[in-house]
Amino acid sequence: MSVKVATIMQIIEELAPKNLAYDWDNIGLIVGSPKEELERILVSLDVNEQVVDEAIANGVGMIICHHPLIFKPISNIRWDNNLGVILKKLVQNEINLYAAHTNLDLCKNGVNQILFEKLGLEDGQILKVEKAEKLLKLVVFVPMSHVEHVKMSMGNAGAGWIGGYSHCVFGTQGIGSFKPLEGTNPYLGSTGEIEDVEEMRLETIVPEKILKTVLKSVLKEHPYEEVAYDIYPLANSGDKYGLGLAGRYDIPIAKNEFLEMVKERLQAPVLKVAGIIPEKIQKVGVCGGSGGSIISNAAFTGIQVFITGDISYHQAQEAESLGICVIDAGHGTTEKLVVPYFANNLKSKLDVQKRKVEVMISKVNSEPWTFL
Ligand SMILES: [Zn+2]
Repeated sequence: MSVKVATIMQIIEELAPKNLAYDWDNIGLIVGSPKEELERILVSLDVNEQVVDEAIANGVGMIICHHPLIFKPISNIRWDNNLGVILKKLVQNEINLYAAHTNLDLCKNGVNQILFEKLGLEDGQILKVEKAEKLLKLVVFVPMSHVEHVKMSMGNAGAGWIGGYSHCVFGTQGIGSFKPLEGTNPYLGSTGEIEDVEEMRLETIVPEKILKTVLKSVLKEHPYEEVAYDIYPLANSGDKYGLGLAGRYDIPIAKNEFLEMVKERLQAPVLKVAGIIPEKIQKVGVCGGSGGSIISNAAFTGIQVFITGDISYHQAQEAESLGICVIDAGHGTTEKLVVPYFANNLKSKLDVQKRKVEVMISKVNSEPWTFL
């Protein structure tokens, strides 16, 4: 049984919401159409010609990658250059291409979280907060006969979740008045006459990203033809998202043991170290990919060691001057852990929906560096 690209996109965007991506990024469906149907997906860190060949050989209908194939607008598609060849092969073989990049870096259970967990760290704190979820207050006026139904519909759709509590709703009883005009079909009252009804004002908190779903659920349970509801912006801050995570070990780890563990768990062929490695390590920060731009944020949190990739000469000097030890384990090495994890998450969500789609993990090694 095949599944539409649109369904897969919806699942990906639940795992890595698009609004978390930076403005400069180019995420989402890059080649293809949401209307296409497919039976096999390939998840990969990068897209290069070998990955596309792998997809063709395996009858894959969609490649999901981390690094977008196209960042900036292109002015031609020529198959005497690498990008043109890849695009030609994708189009000729009707392979959809989707990128989840900085949204996969920033989301819960994304690149940084996986790296953090792989290294056995605990008590994660975001190193550089970039976005906070917007919260809204939803107020709905409900006749007494339908209060419980509407309350449940709010909570079941995800409204009123505060910390470890769900279905948090406050109700105030009062009298609602209305006059049905010509052409209406009122649940209560008669055309042209003022109707006074005992109603409950139900109010709850809703993350902006699920407002539409909550409203749809409420309107389905509410008996009125025209439902009265208000939406207020709130100054409360919702879940935060950002780059990198700082954490700690319960028991400090000796320097050599720590370095061995990092190499082994990340399968890092080499570690480049700037600054002085402490003899005992307890507080560690991570940032998958290129974390050089947040060295000062990392230093400010009081961590002893910052593990990331793509550190430049001057960033290494900056780390030294800030008194923090930076370990460059490589861009791809610190990111590639997310690929199998993301593929498994996607597969689980597809299984829940009883979609028979095969999710494959690319076997192509796209690491451009050779370590001699
Ligand atoms: Zn990257």
